[in-house]
Parts: sequence; C-alpha cells; structure tokens
Amino acid sequence: MLTVFGSTALDTIRTPRKVLKNVLGGAATFAALSASNFVDTGLIAVVGTDFPKKYQKILSENVDLKGLIVKQGKTFHYDGKFDNTLSTRETIKTELNVLQDFKPSVPEEYKKSQFVYLANNDPDQNINLIKEFDKVKFSMCDTIDFWISTKRESVIRMIKAVDAVVINDEEAKLLTKEFNLIKCAKKIMKWGAKYVIIKKGEHGSLMFFDDVIFPSAGFSLEDVVDPTGAGDSFAGAMIGYLASKKSTSLSSIKKAIVYGNVLGSFVVEKYGIDGLTQLKKLDIKNRMKLYERMIRF
Ligand code: AMP
Repeated sequence: MLTVFGSTALDTIRTPRKVLKNVLGGAATFAALSASNFVDTGLIAVVGTDFPKKYQKILSENVDLKGLIVKQGKTFHYDGKFDNTLSTRETIKTELNVLQDFKPSVPEEYKKSQFVYLANNDPDQNINLIKEFDKVKFSMCDTIDFWISTKRESVIRMIKAVDAVVINDEEAKLLTKEFNLIKCAKKIMKWGAKYVIIKKGEHGSLMFFDDVIFPSAGFSLEDVVDPTGAGDSFAGAMIGYLASKKSTSLSSIKKAIVYGNVLGSFVVEKYGIDGLTQLKKLDIKNRMKLYERMIRF
C-alpha cells in the first residue's frame, strides 16, 4: 500500500484559453489519483467545510479516504496563471486556510505503508508525519517555491528525512542556490536524499543516484491545455509503480520515471484533474508502447 500526504485544494487556474475557478486540485490530489492507477493508495489531507461533496466523491472512488480530515474553515486555495506559452506559471495567491497549523496524523491502517509520498506541503508537517510510520521502505518528497522562500531550513530537514526528492528545475536552483542541475542534485544528495529527480516540464527529467544520471524525455505532445498537476502526477505514478512492484531497484526506478512522464502527459492534455479521472489502464499501456517506440534507436 502507498500513503500520500500533502495539499488538497480548491484551485483557480488561469490558462490562456480558460479560467477555472475553485476546481479540485492540490499536490496530494494529483499524486494520489495518479498513483491509484498502480496500487491501493491512501490519502492523508485536510479540507475545509466548503469542500464540495462532488469532489469528495471523485476522491473516494479512486483512493482510500480514512486519512481525510474535514476541519471548520476554508480549504487550501491556490491561484495561478499560465502565460501564453503554458510553460511559465505565476502564483497569484496561496491561501493556506485549514492547512495552516494542521497537525496531521497517520491512521492506524496506514502505519504499515512501506511506500510514502510527501507531496508538496508545509515541510514541518511532512517531517512530523513521516516519523509516524512503522517501516518505510521508500519515501519521497516534493516542494515548491512558496516553501523554499518561507521555510528553506525546514525543506532541507525534510530532504534529510526521505529517500528521494522530486523537484522541478527552477525550484532546485532556488533551493540550492546553484545554476547547474548536476550541482543542484549533488547538493541535495549531500543533504541526505539518495535519489534526486529533477523535473524539466515538457522536456522530461533527470534522475541522479550515486554517480548515475538517467535522463528521460517528456512524451511529446502537440496539444497542451493545462499543465497544473503534471509534476504531482509524475511523482504519484512513479511511487505508485514502485509500490506495486514492492521494488526500489535502480531498474524499477528508471521504469517508474517513464511511467511518471507518461502519466504527466495525460494530465496536461485536459483541464484540472480530468486527464486522470478519464484515464483507462489501456490508455497507459498504449502510451507506454508509443513512448518506448519514440525513444528507441
Ligand atoms: P504542479 O502543477 O505539479 O506544480 O502542482 C500544482 C498543485 O500544487 C496545485 O493543484 C496546487 O493546489 C498545489 N500547490 C500550489 N502551491 C502550493 C503550496 N505552497 N503548498 C502545497 N501545494 C501547493
């Protein structure tokens, strides 16, 4: 079983073609929905009393919600705007609401999870939560500029507490104060992570482990409408695949990264979570085949 913890949100997403207001989002939402294609996934999260029943239903149809807490107040709200190229996003507002000072705890049933994903969230909460599991075999975390700017030292402590870090290229540079991605990865490994996966949006990712570098291409797409959640879905697929195989071998990690690229590519083709909720296992299988054909030489 896999446990995912992190933000569950009502997002306002401004794309050049469409503005979505208060739609289901959050790093843990995308990651858990993506992971659920591979393995039973439990979600630990907090939402406010304004969280629509229809969104709770979507979540409950795909993931276990024993860890979902409804707290008096408003759900975490993120407001972001993409530019015309859809490759740069500007944060307009981050309203933590019920996520602020949330004291998460792990339901008894999840304590034996061997795979844990700490999605983008307050790093102090993530550090406290990981301590509650009994026997973690593989843990991974992500972060975002908001936490790097407000709680950098806690982000570094969170990195010490996990096996792997997934982070996008701009955030890796911001966090490490380096410009070269190899230097960024080396610094993050020095802080304690064994694996560092630097995401490069549509251009794929670079995985670092010891002296191994594994570059992987993004799945090339002509029509992208909303990149929100691509990174979270990448990470969810990655750890979901590893949990399904109960493996952390280097070859499994490489294959998991390819699944990450493929799941990320489905998300960006539709708005919000639609790319994940409308996805069938056969779609994933077929795109994996196409991906393989695309990169083979
Ligand atoms: P991504 O597009 O993969 O970077 O993830 C976007 C998701 O991250 C959105 O659905 C947001 O709700 C969520 N998010 C944005 N900022 C934060 C933050 N500071 N902490 C936690 N989650 C966030």
